[in-house]
Amino acid sequence: SLASRLQSTFDKLRGKGKVSEEDVTKAMREVRLALLEADVNFKVVKDFVNRVKERAIGQDVLKSLTPGQHVIKVVNDELTELMGGGQSKLAVSNRPPTVVMMVGLQGAGKTTTTGKLANYLRGKQNRKPLLVACDVYRPAAIKQLQVLGNQLDIPVFEMGNQTSPVEIARAAIEHAKEQHLDYVLIDTAGRLHIDEALMGELQEIKAITKPNEILLVVDAMTGQDAVNVAESFNNQLELTGVVLTKLDGDTKGGAALSVKAVTGTPIKFAGMGEKMDALEPFYPERMASRILGMGDVLTLIEKAQVDVDVEKAKELERKMRNAEFTFEDFLEQMAQVRKMGPLDELLNMMPGMNKMKGLKDVKIDDGAIGRVEAIIRSMTIVEKQQPELINSSRRKRIAKGSGTTIQEVNRLIKQFDDMRKMMKQFTKMTDKAKKKGGFK
Ligand code: GDP
Ligand code: MG
Repeated sequence: SLASRLQSTFDKLRGKGKVSEEDVTKAMREVRLALLEADVNFKVVKDFVNRVKERAIGQDVLKSLTPGQHVIKVVNDELTELMGGGQSKLAVSNRPPTVVMMVGLQGAGKTTTTGKLANYLRGKQNRKPLLVACDVYRPAAIKQLQVLGNQLDIPVFEMGNQTSPVEIARAAIEHAKEQHLDYVLIDTAGRLHIDEALMGELQEIKAITKPNEILLVVDAMTGQDAVNVAESFNNQLELTGVVLTKLDGDTKGGAALSVKAVTGTPIKFAGMGEKMDALEPFYPERMASRILGMGDVLTLIEKAQVDVDVEKAKELERKMRNAEFTFEDFLEQMAQVRKMGPLDELLNMMPGMNKMKGLKDVKIDDGAIGRVEAIIRSMTIVEKQQPELINSSRRKRIAKGSGTTIQEVNRLIKQFDDMRKMMKQFTKMTDKAKKKGGFK
């Protein structure tokens, strides 16, 4: 997949103390191949790679926590930008109802998405939507929408399959006005391929209903085809947005990356499953992270870059590697980490951290941190540096001195031991990964 491909490229850069121009060029060559293989439009790839190279080489890479991560961050930023930067919201008409036309090829997920969108608008925005059955060609298409409407308890407007879709759409808007419904979602017919008859009909519906949104529903699994489809629909109808469906499947990511760049039309929603609640607003940043396969780790890096003293962090890393980590460092690190924000949040952002044994039952709140600090401050210098010396009588003294209990002191020392063990393992793991990587 694109994610794993990019991941292994970046694993080679990560942890590198210094990144040369040649390293970046080498990595970008792999990024280029990965993107092309994921079916991203070749022109999009070319522009993308050039932009990343320019930024990665041009900036003061050495100031970052580690240069490899810096390059990754640039790639992530540019991926985000490629998909439109920020989230694109659905238009709202200032004279209700807001009319949304759903268009797309057969099987893309139009009818399903129409139901999901109605459910989303009602649930998240307290709106009153109306579903409109304008697919009069496909047998059972009307029935399909009615079933969804029933299931969601959202009204469905239909006039059978003998009335023209244009007339149905017009009447539906009248109906919505009478009933004081504020969104009209028009489910249109699709074809297996784009043809003129279909486009003609959609243009007529557009002319009569003057929709606030024309959303193209495309199947993310179809890769480059999805982009071609988007381009033709956009040429004929001037789309206002795209809904990318079936992102829950194993897509290559190419469609998500190219649609906006090629058509200029933002992706507004993502379909994440067949159920009616499986629709999410599309966040370019999250998609970029997903493509890079790193969860929210980039947010973490950004936070770290802003808040943590780089020199101190490096020193700490050295100590961790050599297992010289002491309670004093622990205290120092806690102070650094606290500057970044709530601890649980930070831990959750670290990949694999929430799954790590032992950490799961450590409930972290700021009060608890205060107590941990108090415990460490009640240790003598020797105890802080050589925790193995802390026997039961010392524990008793520390508990008393810090106003905590022996249980709390025991727990902290146990956690500290676990943490040290984890660091040793982690060091071994990263060393191994480094040896496997191609860079010297
Ligand atoms: P239409 O012909 O464009 O109206 O497509 P449908 O709404 O009938 O959907 C076609 C098929 O795709 C159905 O089996 C849907 O359940 C499925 N589908 C739609 N959206 C998604 C999605 O986001 N994820 C998955 N896994 N399946 C989807
Ligand atoms: Mg349909």
